[in-house]
Order: sequence, then structure tokens, then C-alpha cells
Amino acid sequence: MADKCQYPDISEIPKKKKKHGRKWERNRNERISSHVIGFPCHCKRYKCFEETTVEEREFLLLYFNKMQNKDHQDSFLASMIKVLSIKRRRPRRKEEKRFLRDHSFSYYIKVARGNNIVRVPVCINAILSIFGIGKSRIERIRGSLVKTGVPPLNQQGKHTNRPLAFSENIVNSIIDHIKSFKGRQSHYALHETRKLYLPEDLNLSKMYNMYKERFPQNKVCRESYRKIFAEKFNISFGYPRKDTCSTCDKLNIILENQDTA
Ligand SMILES: [Zn+2]
Ligand SMILES: [Zn+2]
Repeated sequence: MADKCQYPDISEIPKKKKKHGRKWERNRNERISSHVIGFPCHCKRYKCFEETTVEEREFLLLYFNKMQNKDHQDSFLASMIKVLSIKRRRPRRKEEKRFLRDHSFSYYIKVARGNNIVRVPVCINAILSIFGIGKSRIERIRGSLVKTGVPPLNQQGKHTNRPLAFSENIVNSIIDHIKSFKGRQSHYALHETRKLYLPEDLNLSKMYNMYKERFPQNKVCRESYRKIFAEKFNISFGYPRKDTCSTCDKLNIILENQDTA
């Protein structure tokens, strides 16, 4: 929607409560860059670990680990996979049908030798070992290559580059906008959770649309709005049924920004 929207850089703004976001992000980065080489494949067909040197394998792994996100890594892995179509042979029995595969795959790695880039055919186990990855990851990439011709895209890597940080003004405008919604705190756990309940006919999409209406000049995508909503606030929609009393029910929920719009 918003064409230039970037992931908000909200690190400068103090958090009410530390959530998992940052830790998760750190873990994700560790996951991306902490692959280690596994055991030799010992295959007889390609002799992968004899046909490549330790230095070549380590270089590939180092390069792989340094990649910025999983999508880049997946593209890199995809470039080593060749999809081969198999002619469907007539199944002998009906049950056999589902065991037939339409594709097979071959793998190679590219290494620099002298002034040449050499393609070295390897087995799948060598790929798994060299890059320290699980088979399911290769299977996912293969599936995507077969279905779409391109490697899979993880939405999670989408915003990690942060070429343009959000201005603080924009972040604050989102925070102020969310704050402008009046809800109420949980009655029974009033002093414990600080969770705020907004009316159940409200939701994040509606709030985001209201934000867009109010600040059409701000290029903010839904995901950025959602992220601030999730990280800076502890808000639910709808009141817990048990958690009502007549006093609280008399409280009016006012959308402050309707007055000022
Ligand atoms: Zn091998
Ligand atoms: Zn009450």
C-alpha cells in the first residue's frame, strides 16, 4: 500500500514494557549466521568432500552465514539446485501413483579455482552439511522452485534492511494515535496487568485506516502500525465477559481523534 514504507526504527523511544521483539530478532540473526559445517557425506557418486577442499567449503559457509537474511540465503541455495523433470511413467497400480515424482534435483556448488569458477556437482547431503542446514529447508526451496520457478520468500526478512528509518515524528504520530483511543483497563486485574481493552467493534485494521485518513501524508504501512501497536502497547479488543461491573459499564469509550479530525 504505502509504497515507501519502512520498518519503523523505534529503538530510540523508551518502551513501557520489554517484549520479545528484540530478543527474537537477535535470535533470528543468530539463526541466520550460526550455521556450522556438518559431517562429510561419504557418497561414492560425487565424492563431494574429496572433490572440494576444506577452504572452499569454509568459504561457502562463511559467505552463507554473512548473508543478511534468510531470503538471500534461500536464493543462494536455490542457485545450487537444478530441477530436472522426469517423464511420468505409467503407474503399475493406482496406489503407486502418489509415489511417483515429477521432478528430481541435482546439486552443485560453485568454487573459484585459479581464474575460473568451477561448478562441482555434489549430493544433497553435502549441501546440507556444508551449509549446516536441515533437509526441510532444501525441500521447501525445491518445492518453491518447482511450483513457481523462484526461491521462496519469507515475509520475515522483508523489513530487516531498514534503508530509511522512520522519523521519530512518524513513530510518535502512531503512538499518539493509538493512545487517542479510549478504552478501559481490566477491572479485576486493574493494578496487575495494565492491559487496556478497546471496544470490540474496533480492530487494528480500522485503527490503521483511521490513522491513514488522519495522516495521509505519512507513508506508514499496516505492518509498521501493527508493530508499534504490538510493541508499545498492551491492548486487547473487546472486554472479557467476566470482567465487567456496572460502574465500568458506565464508562464511555470515546474516540478522541473523531473530535479533532
Ligand atoms: Zn556427496
Ligand atoms: Zn469495574
